[in-house]
Amino acid sequence: MTEAVEAALPDKYSNMSEWYSEILERAEIIDIRYGVKGFIVYRPFGMMIMKNIIKLYEEELEKTGHKPFLFPVVIPEKNLRMEKEHIKGFEGEVFWVEKGGFTPLEERLALRPTSETAIYPLYALWFSSYKELPFKGYQTCAVYRYETKATRPLLRGREFLWIETHNVYYTEEEARQQTIEDAEIFYRVTTEKLGIPFLHIKREEFDKFPGAVDTYAFDTLLPDGRVLQIGTTHYLGTNFTRVFNVVVHDEEGNLVNPHSTCYGIGLSRILAAILLVHGDEYGAILPFEIAPIQIVIIPIYKTGFSNEEIDKYCIMVKERLVKEGYRVVFDDSEKTPGEKYYYYDLRGVPFRIEVGPREVQTNKVTIFRRDIRRREAVALENLIKYIEDTKSKVLETLRKRAEERLNENIIEVRSRDELIEAYRRGGRRIFKIFFCGRKECADEIKSELDGLETRGMPLKDVEEGPCVWCGEPGHTCYLAKAY
Ligand SMILES: [Zn+2]
Repeated sequence: MTEAVEAALPDKYSNMSEWYSEILERAEIIDIRYGVKGFIVYRPFGMMIMKNIIKLYEEELEKTGHKPFLFPVVIPEKNLRMEKEHIKGFEGEVFWVEKGGFTPLEERLALRPTSETAIYPLYALWFSSYKELPFKGYQTCAVYRYETKATRPLLRGREFLWIETHNVYYTEEEARQQTIEDAEIFYRVTTEKLGIPFLHIKREEFDKFPGAVDTYAFDTLLPDGRVLQIGTTHYLGTNFTRVFNVVVHDEEGNLVNPHSTCYGIGLSRILAAILLVHGDEYGAILPFEIAPIQIVIIPIYKTGFSNEEIDKYCIMVKERLVKEGYRVVFDDSEKTPGEKYYYYDLRGVPFRIEVGPREVQTNKVTIFRRDIRRREAVALENLIKYIEDTKSKVLETLRKRAEERLNENIIEVRSRDELIEAYRRGGRRIFKIFFCGRKECADEIKSELDGLETRGMPLKDVEEGPCVWCGEPGHTCYLAKAY
C-alpha cells in the first residue's frame, strides 16, 4: 500500500494558531499540560531538535572566542536594583523567591530575567587590568519573566531557553564591533544553517533594552504576518561596569570602567520560527542539520516477494548511512506505509527512503524529499553522494522560500493616508516608513492601527524623510505587529 498521504494540518497562512497547536502536540515537540501558566515541557523529540540548535550556536560562539560559564538562577535583590533603568524595565516581570523552607529570606532573590546583575559583581572581582580584556563569556540557560500578556508556547513564556553572552572590552570601538560580530554569528546559524531570514534592526531610543546605550534586534516574519524577535544584541557602554564597579588599569595605570555588550539568542522562539516558517500542511520540515531523524527507511512489502529480503536490503542501506554519521531510523513496525509516511512527514524528516521489490531487484532506492514532496529513484552506489548533495539543496529551498516571503511582505508607504489604506487592505504586513523617533508618535500609530509597532531602523540603506504620522524629520523604520 503506497497511497498518497492526506494533509495532517490546516493551512498555516490562514489559520496559523491552529496549525501551530496541532504541530506542537502531534509531532510531540512540547507538552502544554504542565499546569503552570507560561511553563511548558519539552518532550524528547522537541528537546532533541533544541539540543541540535543549541550546538550550532555554541559552536559559532566558541569559534569567535566565547567561553562557557554558568551563573546561579537566583539574583540578590540589591544587585538587581543597582542599575536604575534596568530594574525599571524588569521590575514588573520578576519572579521572587522569598522563603527557604519556613524561614523568610533576609534578602529576596529574583529568578534571573536576564543575567547582567548576576554576572557583573563577579566581573568586578575577575578583572584588574586592560590586558585581561576582551573577555567573552556565554551561558545557555532558562530565564524567567512574569509575562502579563497572553502567553503562547515557545513564543511568549514565563520561562524560556536562550543563550546570553556578556562581553567586556577595553574600548568602545571594540565593544561596538562586537554587536556587529553578534549579528554575523546570528546570520551564519539562523539563516545559513537553519534557513530563517531576519531583519537586522536598530531599535528606537524608547524601545531599547533597559540599561543599554544601543539595542539591535533580529526580527523574523511568521505566517500570520506578525514579526517575532528571535535575537538581540546590545551595546551597554559603561552603564553596567560603572554601577557594579568593574574597573581595570589602563595603559597609564589609571582606573577605568571597561565597555560591555550582551547578546541574547532566543532559542525557544527560534524553534518556533523553524516550525512555523518552514512547515506545511503535512507538518514540520526540519533542516537536515538539526533533524533528530535525518533519514527514515520504510519497507514496502508485496505479496509474492520475500519480506525478509526487503528487510535485509533496508538494513544494508541503513548501515551505509549510519557509517556516514547520519541519524537514521529503519521503521519495520506493523503500521502501514501510509501511516508511517504521515508520522515522519509530521516530524519533518528531510529524507524518506522507500524499499520494495523493485528497489531490491534493481539495486536502487526510492528517495522522497520532504521539502518539495517529490520522489526520485537513486542507484545504491550513488546514495551517499545524493544525500550529501541534496541536503544543502533542501536548505536552499527552505531558505529561498522564506526569504522570498519576507521580501514580498515588506511594503513601502510614504504618508499617513497611504499607510492606513495599505494597512486596511491587508496582505503585506511589514511597512517601511519614515519615522520621527518619538514615542508619542509610535503610541498613536499603535493605538490607531490595532497594535502596529515601530520595530526600528534597518542597518543598511537608511534614508531620511518626513515621518508618515506627524511630518517631522524622520528616518527609515519598519512597522509591524509583533509577538
Ligand atoms: Zn512622528
